[in-house]
Amino acid sequence: MAYKKIVKIWDDLVICKSNIDFLTSKTNVVKFPLTKYDKKIIKDLKDTADRIDCAGIAANQIGHNKRIFIGYSDNSLESYKIYINPLIILKYQNSIVPGYKNEIDHYNREDYENHIYEGCLSLPNAEFSFPRYHKIKVQYQTEDGKNCTETLEQFHSQIFQHELDHLDGKTIAHRCIESIKNRKEGTIILVGYKEKSREQLQKKIKTLHNNFQYLKDYFKR
Ligand SMILES: [Zn+2]
Repeated sequence: MAYKKIVKIWDDLVICKSNIDFLTSKTNVVKFPLTKYDKKIIKDLKDTADRIDCAGIAANQIGHNKRIFIGYSDNSLESYKIYINPLIILKYQNSIVPGYKNEIDHYNREDYENHIYEGCLSLPNAEFSFPRYHKIKVQYQTEDGKNCTETLEQFHSQIFQHELDHLDGKTIAHRCIESIKNRKEGTIILVGYKEKSREQLQKKIKTLHNNFQYLKDYFKR
């Protein structure tokens, strides 16, 4: 087993400054035939995904700088698949699902079903709400070097966009910041900490907002 620790931007809302540059750098293209190291990355991704509760993991989230991710293979969310050198070749403009525009009650979200919110292993205890495409056409290579073209929908499409963004050095924090700037649409939501009092939760929400501001300033550099 080669279970790997997830590289995080914050942990229990404490910022891990030394990880930000790595997670916000673009990863390298994979060439075929796969090297021993590429095969190790794939094994690490599979072992790690088996150990933790996740929809997908990008190679750079476990410290490997290559364009490979693991993610659910379809919307049944039952098994994982390896995606190498992934690309989006078409975004269906009429498939955009909106994010929440403004801050919401973190524990009683209104109209939950009709908005997008996304979590990330590298940004735990937070969800980010911003628009995503619910239908995209993609290309990628399999472990055997086979070229695949597929149309992905719903959550499967969301996972692909999320993991591909990671490989481009973009987290959901970047996406949320972009959306607030360009569309005036997006917010962050505290998750977890259910055992805490209302007052403690307000403190955590404040820390979350401070962290988000820190990233906004960081990404501007
Ligand atoms: Zn993520």
